[in-house]
Amino acid sequence: MSALTHDLMVRGIAATKADEKSEAIRYFTRLLDLDPTPEEQTETWQWLATLVEDPVEKKTYLDEILSRNPGDARARRKLAELSGALNPADVIDPDRKPATAPIEPVRAKVQRFVCTVCGGRMVFTADGNELVCENCGSRKAIGGLKSRLSAGKSANFAAAMATTRGHEIPVRARITTCQGCSAEFQVPAHILSENCPYCGSSYATSDSSEKETIQPASLIPFKFGARGVRERLQSWFTAESFEKTPWYAAPRGFYIPVWNFTVGGQLSWTASIQNNDRWETIRDTKIIHHPEILVPATNHLPEASNEIVNTFQLAGMVNFDSHYLADWMAETYQIPVSDASLNARKTVLEAEKEQIPNQYNQQISNLRINPASMAVDSYQLILLPIWLTTYQHDQERFEVTVNGQNGQVIGQLPTRGLSEWISGIFGG
Ligand SMILES: [Zn+2]
Ligand SMILES: [Zn+2]
Repeated sequence: MSALTHDLMVRGIAATKADEKSEAIRYFTRLLDLDPTPEEQTETWQWLATLVEDPVEKKTYLDEILSRNPGDARARRKLAELSGALNPADVIDPDRKPATAPIEPVRAKVQRFVCTVCGGRMVFTADGNELVCENCGSRKAIGGLKSRLSAGKSANFAAAMATTRGHEIPVRARITTCQGCSAEFQVPAHILSENCPYCGSSYATSDSSEKETIQPASLIPFKFGARGVRERLQSWFTAESFEKTPWYAAPRGFYIPVWNFTVGGQLSWTASIQNNDRWETIRDTKIIHHPEILVPATNHLPEASNEIVNTFQLAGMVNFDSHYLADWMAETYQIPVSDASLNARKTVLEAEKEQIPNQYNQQISNLRINPASMAVDSYQLILLPIWLTTYQHDQERFEVTVNGQNGQVIGQLPTRGLSEWISGIFGG
């Protein structure tokens, strides 16, 4: 970088900030004629793409950047804005919290659905279009609700990647904190006392206090009730060769908070490759796109149950609506998105570390990946339905988690003696 190009950069940025557009454009255009470094060049194109009014010219600058670094998140975002796929107001700017976020008291909207036949609890059917009584099976169409509850999935790839759709909308809600384990829940309005699904402590919801929290963007509704979860547990115990169903605590269904990330950008790496008995160093890059990287936003899940978040079909997600919380407790998130995003990046990096060697015919070694251009393209807070219980075996307690969407069970198993396994195999 020369002193002159550096000077022009400083002046250009200052003029931009002072809203002297034509002045700024002059500095930046001049800079481009003076043989700038590739970094200066990219930076200048970024500024010019913002400054110029003509969409064709804007696109030219963005194309220049993307032809050299297709993973450039800023340029990709601007291009999506330009093609009309994105409303600039919806674009994620990690440095800026949404200023005009609607503040909506969640509890005011909560309604309880009671069966008109028997007074039992109504839950959503599998397709989310109807309510069904857990007790007597009576059904009720949701009607007017339906349109608001149906998933409005964006078909536009670029827009879906970068929009904030619902993320980080702060809302005030009554939150109850468990005295036993400090987990925090939003509890339906009509429930006066509840047991903590994690530690079993009972508490009165009158202890709750109003706090600011983030409204989830989407959720997967519960697909079955208490009877359904018992059936799933029975089959699981049978499949795991328990002689008879052990005692287990009443399963508790609730929503857990999970961060849903899309990680994209570019990875570059160096590695050694063997070519005719000689080791050569290679350099390579690739564009990555990893949607649906899920990171629990709670640290209360039992260790063995963390895998449950990867057993859901996310195609079943619907837009958040507080009606879904009418009968279920929802844990509020405790792990901030910044911490969770580190885990998401780590997950992607580990997956790529395994995949990259497969694209070479020869064996490679010393793989060193530079993740500097890898970025979180979008994220949202979602709620996933789970059932938690513990069962007892030989005086010991074991944790079991049931997926509230598809009934998949993840549970701890006792370590068994050989004779017990054999009797299990031969039907004991
Ligand atoms: Zn009923
Ligand atoms: Zn607790």
